[in-house]
Amino acid sequence: MFESIRSDFPILNQQVNDEALVYLDNAATSQTPQPVLDAIMDYYHEDNANVHRGVHTLAERATYKYEVSRQKVADFIHASSSREIIFTRGTTTSLNWITRFARTVLQPGDQILISIMEHHANLVPWQEACRATGAELVYLYLKDGILDLDDYQNKLSSKTKFVSLAHVSNVLGCLNPIKELTEMAHQVGAYMVVDGAQAAPHLPIDVHELDCDFYAFSGHKMMGPTGIGVLYGKEDILNLMDPLEFGGEMIEFVHEQESTWKELPWKFEAGTPNIAGAIGLGAAIDYLNDLGMASVHSHVQALVTYTLPKLQAIEGVTVYGSKDPSNHIGLISFNIEGIHPHDVATALDYEGVAVRAGHHCAQPLIHYLGISSALRASFYAYNTYEDCDRLIDAIIKTKEFFNGTL
Ligand code: PMP
Repeated sequence: MFESIRSDFPILNQQVNDEALVYLDNAATSQTPQPVLDAIMDYYHEDNANVHRGVHTLAERATYKYEVSRQKVADFIHASSSREIIFTRGTTTSLNWITRFARTVLQPGDQILISIMEHHANLVPWQEACRATGAELVYLYLKDGILDLDDYQNKLSSKTKFVSLAHVSNVLGCLNPIKELTEMAHQVGAYMVVDGAQAAPHLPIDVHELDCDFYAFSGHKMMGPTGIGVLYGKEDILNLMDPLEFGGEMIEFVHEQESTWKELPWKFEAGTPNIAGAIGLGAAIDYLNDLGMASVHSHVQALVTYTLPKLQAIEGVTVYGSKDPSNHIGLISFNIEGIHPHDVATALDYEGVAVRAGHHCAQPLIHYLGISSALRASFYAYNTYEDCDRLIDAIIKTKEFFNGTL
């Protein structure tokens, strides 16, 4: 079934440097299938109007489609209601907003637990929240390439007010046991925040079961457009939160000196939202639901399980993170001894293979691993075993080239 979906992704059907493109940079951004492109185009062709304002037909159609997408998101992550779904620009904005709420809660001496594997989006906003409030940022470290759960147990205390963790690491690929971690966080009265940017594209997500207080993710990593993302929050907590931006759309009544806000979720959505983006995200969710998230996950993990030992068997290759493929959700980060990752990525691009090289917006982790950068191959539903073979062949060729044996 997954072989046949490639034709839904027009961008994949191209040559790069005279080679058929192999796109393995999905953890940075995924490709967009034709039905999602069509949904965006149809909106602009037929329905384009501002939402929640007009009573004319186009405005009503645009509003309907925008709100239907919100419901699709709610269903996709099993939120209790679409009131718990706020559209944002992406994971980064969602996490920034949560930390703005945190600033109203945190006192000097309070602690926030994050892990060394966090993306800068789940790290820098917390540093700023600490600077503003006198709270302390406490790090959890790793054991055998995954989160050290003993470290979590030891550091969690009555001082902990927020725990904020990636569901899946964008460098290690490990899957953090959010349900158990949330249960423990709640026992000490802390809020649980989950960065789901790398999990939502790959796993069936059930925020109800995870019981986390917030969950953030981005449309562009799950076949949707850029510039649209989601902040999920439990309704009672979102009700406690003040709006973070002010202006049109989010108000109920405006008087000369003061205003009142709309109810959830609109009190958080000031100004004209990314209507086409939300509709595109809704279409991406339809597409993923048609494939089935459990099937997407098992297909991607089959590719990872196929590639991992082949990569490890290449002399001089170091793979970061766990040895267990089930802790490499959709991605493998690695280096080749003696060749700079940027040189490898450039050489792979000559072979038509797109991978990411760099610090992956996780500099503290990269430093902790004792390296300055790494390569990352990341897979998605439209990738094939042939793509994996092309990656391995291109790495072997690159090694031979740099070792002067080619
Ligand atoms: N968290 C993780 C784990 C990520 O992988 C990313 C994207 N690289 C982000 C947050 C930020 O997502 P965005 O750039 O879409 O806001």
